[in-house]
Amino acid sequence: MSVFANAMNQLDRAAGAMRLDSRFLHKLKTPAAVHQFKLRIKMDDGAEREFPAYRVQWDRSRGPYKGGFRYFPAVDLDEVQALAFWMTIKTAVVGIPFGGAKGGVVVDPKKLSKGELERLTRAFARGLAPHIGPELDVPAPDLNTSAETMGWFLDEYEKIVGRSAPGVVTGKPISLGGSLGRESATGRGGYYLLEEVRKILGFDRPGRVIVQGFGNVGYWFARLAHEAGWKVVGLADSAGGIYDPKGLDPEKLMAAKKAGKSLQQASTAMRLTQEDLLASDCDVLVPAALENQITEDIARRLSCKAVIELANGPTTSEADLVIEERGIILVPDVLANAGGVGVSYFEWVQNLTRESWSEETVNAKLKELMTAAWNMTLKTKKQFGGSFREAAFILAVGRLAEAMAARGQ
Ligand code: NAD
Repeated sequence: MSVFANAMNQLDRAAGAMRLDSRFLHKLKTPAAVHQFKLRIKMDDGAEREFPAYRVQWDRSRGPYKGGFRYFPAVDLDEVQALAFWMTIKTAVVGIPFGGAKGGVVVDPKKLSKGELERLTRAFARGLAPHIGPELDVPAPDLNTSAETMGWFLDEYEKIVGRSAPGVVTGKPISLGGSLGRESATGRGGYYLLEEVRKILGFDRPGRVIVQGFGNVGYWFARLAHEAGWKVVGLADSAGGIYDPKGLDPEKLMAAKKAGKSLQQASTAMRLTQEDLLASDCDVLVPAALENQITEDIARRLSCKAVIELANGPTTSEADLVIEERGIILVPDVLANAGGVGVSYFEWVQNLTRESWSEETVNAKLKELMTAAWNMTLKTKKQFGGSFREAAFILAVGRLAEAMAARGQ
C-alpha cells in the first residue's frame, strides 16, 4: 500500500467511527494546491542538473499552511501528499492555529557539496516564493534539511520580497530569529509522551527503549530518555542497527557520528539489520527514521509493550491492525512527533511579536502543549473506543470540521 493510501485509510477509519459528514470527508481527502518544479542548478563541475521538487498545500481552514521539506532520493508526490495531509491532522491534534503542507526535493544530499546544496535550496525558495509567506505557508526542516538550510532559504526569500520576513520559515538559526529549544523539540515532545506511556504501562521506574533513526529526532529523544534513566538498548542509522542489553550512550555515539563514523563503526555492540533491530526485545520501540518501516510481518515479530511513532508514517495500515490485536500501545505520529511543529509555532509567534523567549519558557510551553494533546486524545479514546491513532484522528478531524463549518463551507 502506498504511503498516501495508508494515510487515507487512517482517515476513513476515524471518519467511520465518528460518522463524519461526507462533505468534510471529501474536503479532507483533497489537497488545496500542488506545486511541482524542476530546480535547475549549476554543479561544482560546471554542468547543469535538474532536480524535481514538490510543495503540497493540503488545508488552511485553521491557519496558514505549515510543514517541513525534505531532501531524499525516494521523494515522490504520493509521499509528499501523505505528509501534507498528516501535517493538517497534526496541527489540529495539538490545537495550534496552522493548517498542513509538506515539500520535498528528489535528491541524495550526501552526493552534493555544501555549495550545491545551498544553490538547490535557493532555487527551491525562488520557486516557492509566490506561494508562501508568514501568513500563507511556513516551511521548516525535515529529513536531511536543517537550521542551516532554513537560513539559506530565508535569505533568498527576503531578497525576493525585499523586506525582513523571519516568520516565513521555522527551525532557523537562532541568529536569524530561530527559537531556543526548536532543535530538540520533536525528540523532547516524544520524551514527554514516553513518560505518559510509562504511567499507562505501570512502570515505577524507566525501562528500555530502542530508537530507529539517529538524526535530529532520534538523537534528541534517545539523549533525553538516557538522561532520565531509560536504558537505550538499541539504535539504528541508515547503515544498520546496534543492540546492547547493558545500554548505549547516545551522546558518545553522536560524537563519533560527527567524526564521520556510522553507529556500527562507532560501537562494539551487536550488529543487527533494521528489521531485526525493530523486532528486538525492549519496552518501548521508537521509529524515528522513515515511512513504512513496521510492516505486517515485523508487527508480528515486535517484542515491545509500546511504540511511539516519532517518524511520520512508520507503520503500515496492515501492521496497525496486528499491533492493535496484540495489545501493544501505539502512540501515533500525528500526536507523538508534534513537538516539532509545536515549537515551530512558538518560533513563529516570537517572530511576529519580535519577542525572544528563554529555553525554559519554550520547554515548559512544549510540555503543556504535548500533555494537553495527550489528555484530549485519551478523553476521545474513552468516548469512542478504538486505538490511539483513531482517537487522535477523531479529535483532529472534529476540530477541522468545526473550522470548515464556521467558514460556512
Ligand atoms: P534526519 O535527517 O535528521 O535523520 C534521519 C535519520 O534516519 C538518520 O539517522 C538516518 O541515518 C536515518 N535513516 C535514513 N534512512 C534510514 C533507513 N533506511 N533505515 C534506518 N534509518 C535510516 O531527519 P529527522 O529530522 O530526524 O526526521 C526523522 C523522521 O522524523 C522523519 O520521518 C521526519 O519526517 C520526522 N519528523 C521530523 C521532525 C523534525 O522536527 N525534524 C518533526 C516531525 C517529524
